[in-house]
Amino acid sequence: MSSTLKNMVITKAVDESLIRIEELEDFAPNQCKLYMLRLDRVHPLISGNKYYKLKYNFAQAFQCGYQSVATFGGAFSNHLIATASMAHHIGLGSVGIVRGAEHEAALNDVLRQCQQMGMELHFIPRTLYAQKDQQEVKAQLLTLAPDAYWVPEGGANEEGRSGAASIMRMVPEQMTHILVSVGSGTTYIGLSRGLKKGQNLLGFAPMKRGSYLNESLGHLIDGQVAARCRITDRFHFGGFGKMDQVLQEFITSFESQYGFALDRVYTAKMMLGLKTLFAEKYFAPEDRILCIHTGGLSGN
Ligand SMILES: *Cc1c(COP(=O)(O)O)cnc(C)c1O
Repeated sequence: MSSTLKNMVITKAVDESLIRIEELEDFAPNQCKLYMLRLDRVHPLISGNKYYKLKYNFAQAFQCGYQSVATFGGAFSNHLIATASMAHHIGLGSVGIVRGAEHEAALNDVLRQCQQMGMELHFIPRTLYAQKDQQEVKAQLLTLAPDAYWVPEGGANEEGRSGAASIMRMVPEQMTHILVSVGSGTTYIGLSRGLKKGQNLLGFAPMKRGSYLNESLGHLIDGQVAARCRITDRFHFGGFGKMDQVLQEFITSFESQYGFALDRVYTAKMMLGLKTLFAEKYFAPEDRILCIHTGGLSGN
């Protein structure tokens, strides 16, 4: 297959023509304008930012003749299911290293779907998983899929970041603020690369003390734009994956007002946090705010 044909196979896995920008009326007070970039529409499983973080990784694997792709994730990982689905579409094999040995005995829906799409799952204890980037552990884990193209957890490599940077082509120049949820921060870093003059990037970390990412990712942000990029961890609502009643009610009312869903782990926390920022008059009346819907609805 020629490389153009290979790239076509990858872009055909999703339907980017479904992406659109919607104005969210009555969400922002005063004259602020608020929009949402609906990346969630691109594919039900390769959803939102996951497609963008994976596309150059898969292109690379495909070009170099790999037969399979391996990666890491928690038992509810959107990245894992996106990888399984993308590999399935393209006709590559996939291997998933799952955090938590206990999941092997009782597969949840996410893992079962991964398996149905042909992903070979390996379950490892949490302590080992936490050490997966250490040389010896890494070497040991690589033997689980010795012939695969390896993608780091969260797609957090250069291919992932440049894929995420391509999202900025869809962001109109008049937007003053781009808002995105942050997990590994790969999408956030990618977006920072496409910021135009006068645009600000605000990341929302849905875990306690997630603002450490400002320091740990700092070296990946261009000095020219660093002052206009910031991650806040104020809106974690109890911690990663946690939910309280206020958040639950917000998710329900948002969906009935705007006609589409927010995922409970990431985007719902960002949007509810945004309500607080509006109440605090964080934005100026003339600001144009674009929230990125990073998808992840298969987890709901
Ligand atoms: C994975 C995910 C994120 C986090 O993306 P990173 O690039 O790892 O920061 C945000 N939102 C949703 C819905 C996700 O599934």
